[in-house]
Amino acid sequence: MKDIRGFYPGELKTEIESIGEKPYRAEQIFSWLHDKKAGDFTEMTNLSAALREKLSENFSIAPVRIVEVQKSRLDGTQKYLLSLADGNVIEAVLMRYRYGNSVCVSTQVGCRMGCAFCASTLGGLVRNLESSEMLGEVYAIEKDLGERISHCVLMGSGEPMDNLENVIRFIRLLGDPKGHHMSLRNITVSTCGIPEGIRRFAEEDLPVTLALSLHAPDDETRKKLMPIANKYPLKEVLLACDEYFKKTGRRLSFEYSVVAGVNDNEQEALKLARLLHGKNAHVNLIPVNPVTERHFKRPDRREVEAFQKTLVKSGINATIRRELGSDIDGACGQLRRKYLNT
Ligand code: SAH
Repeated sequence: MKDIRGFYPGELKTEIESIGEKPYRAEQIFSWLHDKKAGDFTEMTNLSAALREKLSENFSIAPVRIVEVQKSRLDGTQKYLLSLADGNVIEAVLMRYRYGNSVCVSTQVGCRMGCAFCASTLGGLVRNLESSEMLGEVYAIEKDLGERISHCVLMGSGEPMDNLENVIRFIRLLGDPKGHHMSLRNITVSTCGIPEGIRRFAEEDLPVTLALSLHAPDDETRKKLMPIANKYPLKEVLLACDEYFKKTGRRLSFEYSVVAGVNDNEQEALKLARLLHGKNAHVNLIPVNPVTERHFKRPDRREVEAFQKTLVKSGINATIRRELGSDIDGACGQLRRKYLNT
C-alpha cells in the first residue's frame, strides 16, 4: 500500500481523484496528516466514515511509535527510541533551546559510512528511511511533548546524501505552508562529504544549512577517522561545499569531533585554519563522545578550548558545541545499540 504521508500536495490530489474523490478532500487530508499530525485515518473526523474506510483500504500511514524515552535531568534533552512498521528501531533526540525545540532525526536505519568513532554505523546499514518515516519522527515527538518543534537537524543515524531523494522530500514536506510549515532556515543537513550528493542537493536550492563533517584538516588524518575520505579527497569535497554556498548563499558549518591524540594538537588547528581561510564558515567543535565499542578518548576541556582559540586567532569562527543530555545515552546510535544488544 502507498504511504499517504509521503505525497506532495499535488500528488495527493491525483491520488485522491484516482479513488473517485473530490480534489478538495486532498487538502483536508494533507492538513490532518501534516498540520494536526494524525497517525491514523480514524482521527480524521471531518471525513465521513465511508471515506476514512476507503482511505485505509488504499493507503497506509507509516507508524512511528515511541518505545522508550530517556529524559535528561540536566537540560531537558529527551532521547527517543522509536519503532517502525517492520520492527526496526531508530533514535531521534529532542533538544530544548531558548530559541525553540529542535529534533535530531535519523535518515537511515543504521549507516554504511563506517566512521571510526560513531556508534550508528556499528551494525552497518539496514535500510533507508522513507520521507514519511522521518516526518513520523518529528510528529511523534511533537505530539509527545505537546509543544511545537521549530527546528530540525539531520544529524541522527544515517548519511543524508546516501538517501537523498527521500531526504529532499522530507524537507519539502516539513516546510510546506499547509502542513507543519517549518522554516527551511531552521533545518540543518549534516553530511560526511559526498560531492555528487552535495551538488545534487544544491540544485534543489533550499535555504537549509549544510554541515560538513570534517573532523580533520588533511586527507591523511581524515582517513583514520572516516573511510569515505579514501574515496573523496578533501579538495573535492570542499569544492562541492563552495558550490553549495554559491548556489544557496547559506553559510557553511563544519563539524570537527575532537579526538585526543588524533586531531587535536595546535598544528592541526593551524592547518584547519589555513584550509578554511576565506570561506564563510563556522566550525563546530565536538569533544568526541566515547562509544563503548570504540577506543577513542575525549580530550581535556582545556585542550578543546586551546584548539578553538587557535582557530579564532587565525580568523576562523569557531565554537565548542554545548554538551546536552550527558546523563543519558548521549552519542549517536548508542540507545539503539543498547536496545539491540539486550
Ligand atoms: N552522516 C552524517 C550525520 C552523522 S551524525 C554526517 O556524517 O555528518 C552528526 C555528527 O556527529 C557528525 O559530524 C558525526 O561525525 C558526529 N559524531 C558521530 N558520533 C560521534 C561521537 N561519538 N562523538 C562525536 N561526534 C560524533
